[in-house]
Amino acid sequence: AAAADENDVVVIGGGPGGYVAAIKAAQMGLKTTCIEKRGTLGGTCLNVGCIPSKALLHSSHMYHEAKHAFPSHGVKFSQLEIDLPAMMAQKDKAVSGLTRGIEGLFKKNKVNYVKGFGKFVSPSEVSVDTIEGGNTVVKAKNIIIATGSDVKSLPGITIDEKKIVSSTGALSLSEVPKKLVVIGAGYIGLEMGSVWGRLGSEVTVVEFAPDIVPSMDGEVRKQFQRMLEKQKMKFMLKTKVVGIDASGDVVKLTVEPAAGGEQSTLEADVVLVSAGRIPYTAGLGLDTIGVQTDKAGRIPVDKHFMTNVSGVYAIGDVIPGPMLAHKAEEDGVACVEFIAGKVGHVDYDMVPGVVYTHPEVASVGKTEEQVKALGVAYQVGKFPFMANSRAKAIDDAEGLVKILAEKETDKILGVHIMAPNAGELIHEAVLALQYGASSEDIARTCHAHPTMSEAVKEAAMATYDKPIHM
Ligand code: FAD
Repeated sequence: AAAADENDVVVIGGGPGGYVAAIKAAQMGLKTTCIEKRGTLGGTCLNVGCIPSKALLHSSHMYHEAKHAFPSHGVKFSQLEIDLPAMMAQKDKAVSGLTRGIEGLFKKNKVNYVKGFGKFVSPSEVSVDTIEGGNTVVKAKNIIIATGSDVKSLPGITIDEKKIVSSTGALSLSEVPKKLVVIGAGYIGLEMGSVWGRLGSEVTVVEFAPDIVPSMDGEVRKQFQRMLEKQKMKFMLKTKVVGIDASGDVVKLTVEPAAGGEQSTLEADVVLVSAGRIPYTAGLGLDTIGVQTDKAGRIPVDKHFMTNVSGVYAIGDVIPGPMLAHKAEEDGVACVEFIAGKVGHVDYDMVPGVVYTHPEVASVGKTEEQVKALGVAYQVGKFPFMANSRAKAIDDAEGLVKILAEKETDKILGVHIMAPNAGELIHEAVLALQYGASSEDIARTCHAHPTMSEAVKEAAMATYDKPIHM
């Protein structure tokens, strides 16, 4: 057991990686302290990421539906307005309720919570400049770095969070911009672009790469881009921003083809820079104790999440792997299990990814491009939501389910779903992959009627045989 003033585990960072690790450690009987500088728990995800973005995605979707879908369902009203302050207040209420909820969980599980900025003074001591002022040193046998990530800026672009914003500013605009330019066609840019596009902004997405969301299955991506274009989102792919002038009322962007060529100008009321995120270890004192980082600034870890310094671990966005909240949580649990002398495991190939636009795009496992590159013989089963009775009943039938399975064994290799609620539908596929299931396993599993999930079953049938409803 730890000495009176010593912890078994200290976690630096109270995001989804850190707070989950702290709760799990306490549940396993380890004396645990979590240090967080923000003043609230939940990290990027809860404060300025997953949760506020999903709140705004939902509110803006309701407005968009009311405007464009309600009339055809026979629901009519004489006036429709956006009350942006009320929308923001609902988002803030969701965030504050959830952050307080984690504080409650800390109390319930007896996690000691220190509010302040932590930095290593030795591999077993963290000095904390507390938010109230003053300093305290927290000691531990094991220290977990869960300091997450921060917005990546672009050279020559200064984010002022008013006219040139990061995702954080884009979550709190005080009015709907007439023109919004999004730099970067990753999921964060597309989600925030969708929010403001639904509320009335003209949205142009500028992307250096030839494709949006590079990790997505190519065929699904094409359909996804078409769908976003139908929603009036404009794309300038293979294009780079070479200059930005925010001195006037409108921001002027100079762009040119990625390969070089003629320049043109774009105007915007607001520019969202969403060109990725970088690991955050500023001021942490990694040098003091000799923790190594790679070229990208991430902290490499071994299978036990231990860094090159014994007793110092790292999890979540600050280490290599998908920069996602649920991945950070899985890391946190597994890391603590190792510390407690048990066995933990996270398979990054089984981490689902979801883009929360409408429809959503969710996937797990390999894309068709990745399967081809592996050189494995495979079968593809597809089923469109146009042929799904529930999707037709609710008149929301854009999208498809695509399943890739190994030809010889029928073992599922990857599943890709574009549909309303694809982020929920994907989990039977995640479980199937986790269990090493075949597409026939899904096809022979009874699915309730009428549900969108039946499209997963039909796509599974189509993988090794024929679907019924196509
Ligand atoms: P973080 O959540 O970044 O938490 C790290 C915490 O450590 C921070 O609170 C920070 O204040 C604190 N900290 C850092 N240094 C110190 C220090 N020295 N002392 C004390 N405290 C410190 N992921 C999803 O899975 N789904 C989504 O829908 C999703 N949407 C997103 C939308 C947006 C707009 C953004 C920006 C991100 C989104 N993400 C989403 C990504 C997700 O937020 C991150 O993957 C996740 O938060 C990583 O968790 P973490 O615990 O590793 O780090």
